[in-house]
Amino acid sequence: MNLHSTVGGPALAQQRHLVTEIPGPASRELLQRRQASVARGLSHVLPVFVTAAGGGVLIDADGNSLIDFGSGIAVTSVGNSAELVVTRVTEQVAHFTHTCFMVVPYEGYVEVCEELNRITPGAHEKRSALFNSGAEAVENAVKIARHATGRQAVVVFDHAYHGRTNLTMAMTAKNMPYKDGFGPFAGEVYRVPMAYPFRWPGGPAACAAEALDVITGQIHAQVGESRVAAVVIEPIQGEGGFIVPPDGFLAGLADWCREHGILFIADEIQTGFCRTGDWFACDHEGVVPDLITTAKGIAGGLPLAAVTGRAEIMDAVHPGGLGGTYGGNPVACAAALGAIETYAKEDLPAAARGIGEIMLPRLRDMARRHPVIGDVRGRGAMIAVEIVRPGTTEPDAEATARVARACHANGLIVLTCGTYGNVLRFLPPLVIGPELLREGLSILEDAFAGL
Ligand SMILES: *Cc1c(COP(=O)(O)O)cnc(C)c1O
Repeated sequence: MNLHSTVGGPALAQQRHLVTEIPGPASRELLQRRQASVARGLSHVLPVFVTAAGGGVLIDADGNSLIDFGSGIAVTSVGNSAELVVTRVTEQVAHFTHTCFMVVPYEGYVEVCEELNRITPGAHEKRSALFNSGAEAVENAVKIARHATGRQAVVVFDHAYHGRTNLTMAMTAKNMPYKDGFGPFAGEVYRVPMAYPFRWPGGPAACAAEALDVITGQIHAQVGESRVAAVVIEPIQGEGGFIVPPDGFLAGLADWCREHGILFIADEIQTGFCRTGDWFACDHEGVVPDLITTAKGIAGGLPLAAVTGRAEIMDAVHPGGLGGTYGGNPVACAAALGAIETYAKEDLPAAARGIGEIMLPRLRDMARRHPVIGDVRGRGAMIAVEIVRPGTTEPDAEATARVARACHANGLIVLTCGTYGNVLRFLPPLVIGPELLREGLSILEDAFAGL
C-alpha cells in the first residue's frame, strides 16, 4: 500500500475503501443541513462531504475512501494538502494574512509573478498580475487587451468556457446552466466555430484542412480584423468537452492574429500547470500567446489566478487600472510557490504524460468493446470520452449520466462536461499512483459493461 504523507494531516492510505453506500448516512445528514442553508443554485457532482484528501483519494464523513479522477476540476494537480503547499501556507498564515497588494506590497506576490514570467511560454520580457479566480483573470486579460490595442471586439469559440461573471458569461458558449436567465450580457463578444475534429462537417481530416480558413474567414466577414482586440481560446477546451483542435490549428491562429495586430490570448486556466504533460498546453506545439490566463492548478487549491503576458501589453495599462482587494493574497501566493516548486521537483509534466499513457490505451480498448464511446481524446492527464448513440455522432447525455452515477456508487469520482452533456472527463491528481489509476479505470469499464 502506498502511503501519502502530509505535514498537516495524517497519512492517507492510497486505496479505495467503501464502508457505506454512497452517499452514506453522515453525508446525507449534512446534505439536509446544506439544503436548508445553502442556495439551490450551487450543485454537486456527488454529495459526499469530505473530511480529508491527499494523493489520489478523498475521505468522506462516513469514512469512505474514494478515488479522485476530478482534482476539484483540475485544481489539486499537486495533490490535496501537498507537503510544500502546507509548509509554505502554514508559515505565511502565521506571519501575516493580508495587507492588500495595492496598499503595501510583499515579496510573495512578486515571487509568484517572477515564476509565472519564467514558466509560461516564450522567452520574451513579461509581466504578470494576480487575481482571485479564473473568471477574474479572463476579465482582466480582456481589459488589458482592449486598453493596449485601442480595439473593442473579442472573438471566442463555440463550446468555450471562460467563467460565470458578466463578461465571461458572454464569452462562455453554453446556455444551461451558465447563462440562462442571467442576461443581458456584455457586448462586443463574437463567437466563431471551434476546430472540433469529431463534430466538424466532413470529419477530422476536413477539420484539419479547413478549420483555420473557415474561422478566420468568418472573423473577417462578420467582425473585421481591425476591430478585434483579442482572440481568446482554450488550447484544449475544458468544460466544453475536452476538445483538442488539430495539430497546427493553434499555431496558425496565433500567426493570423499577429498579422492583423490581434492579441492571441490562451485561456490555460484548466490546461495549465502540467495537466496536459507540458507546463502549459501551448508548449506542446511551441505556440507563444501574447497573454495567458492561469488559475485552477496554480496554488494547490487556494484561490489564485493570473494574467501573464508581453511586458509592453501588460504595462499599457495606467497605474491603478488593475487590481482588487484580495488579488494575490499572501497565503495564496505562498501556496502557489509551494505548488510550483512541487510541479518541478516531482517532475509532474512527466507524471501527467505517464497518466495519459496508462489511460488512453485502456479507454481506446473500451471504445472498441463499447460502441457508445464515440471518441477518446485528450493529452496527458486531461482525458475524455465522448458518449454517443452507437454508430452515430448523436450525443447521449443520458448514458453519460448513468456511467457517471455507476462510477460514483463504486467510489470513483468522475466529472462530465460538454455542450451536450455527453462527455466523461478525467482529471486525476498528477500524484495519483498507477494502481489507483488502474483500479479507477476498471470501475469505469464495469460501468460501461453495466449500461
Ligand atoms: C474554470 C475555468 C474558468 C473560470 O475559472 P473560475 O476560477 O471558476 O472563475 C475560466 N476558463 C477556463 C478554461 C476554465 O476551465
